[in-house]
Amino acid sequence: MNLDVIAAVGLVVLLSLVGLALWRPLVGRAPSLGRRVMRLSVVLAVAVALTGFGAYRLMNARSVQLLGHQVASIETDEKIVALTFDDGPTDRYVEAVLAALGAYRARGTFFVVGAAAQANQSALSALVAAGHEIGNHSFTHRRLVFVSVDTVAREVESTDRVIRSAGYRGPILFRPPFGKRLLSAPFYLRQNARTTVMWNLEPDSLSAIADDPQAMAKYVADNVRPGSIVLLHVWSGARAASRVALPLILEALTGKGYRVVGVSELLDGT
Ligand SMILES: [Zn+2]
Repeated sequence: MNLDVIAAVGLVVLLSLVGLALWRPLVGRAPSLGRRVMRLSVVLAVAVALTGFGAYRLMNARSVQLLGHQVASIETDEKIVALTFDDGPTDRYVEAVLAALGAYRARGTFFVVGAAAQANQSALSALVAAGHEIGNHSFTHRRLVFVSVDTVAREVESTDRVIRSAGYRGPILFRPPFGKRLLSAPFYLRQNARTTVMWNLEPDSLSAIADDPQAMAKYVADNVRPGSIVLLHVWSGARAASRVALPLILEALTGKGYRVVGVSELLDGT
């Protein structure tokens, strides 16, 4: 069942009917068949454009999700913050990442891609052994929009199996690839009582500072609030700046009195 497509088509039909219903009292009956076809085409085009715009806003929304529990930060007075790491893991960089977190007694949350975790089992095992939180970021990192609920289930559950096979026992939170979701993914997540974790700070997604580790650390230090969730990417060769920034970010956060905890601990406080 592809809820995203069903909802989009339904919305186009609904908006078209409303458009046509409004047009007649405003302008009167269409005098000819040609005019009627033209009128219908205009209404349809507007309905498709509105639906497309709405779907785009919704699929990327940081703090709104139609179904299921989702969080982008939490309200708390305690100086706690979560550092979340998307994609990967990769065997190549796991030591550097673990060393940085370990030096600051920080607990990271790793939203791993099932396929990458399967191909880099020692990295996943090392993250688990070091006590970090592991989250689910789908198996193939495809956009989970305009897909069926079955596809979402396959992506999520196969990744869960990889995570559990590494001996991880904690709760497995979910973060959609590219942060995108419409109805199918939220429907599945709600049915399965899974929490969707977004973020409210994304230093290495801001092109103006993504190549500058010092600037990324300063951005986090300037914008962090108790309960913030920070998104970082440290697993690919192209993300060297983020790996350099990691200890700087940890230094800045601990310097401000923050404790870096897993997202689940952050949620326990709410
Ligand atoms: Zn991702």
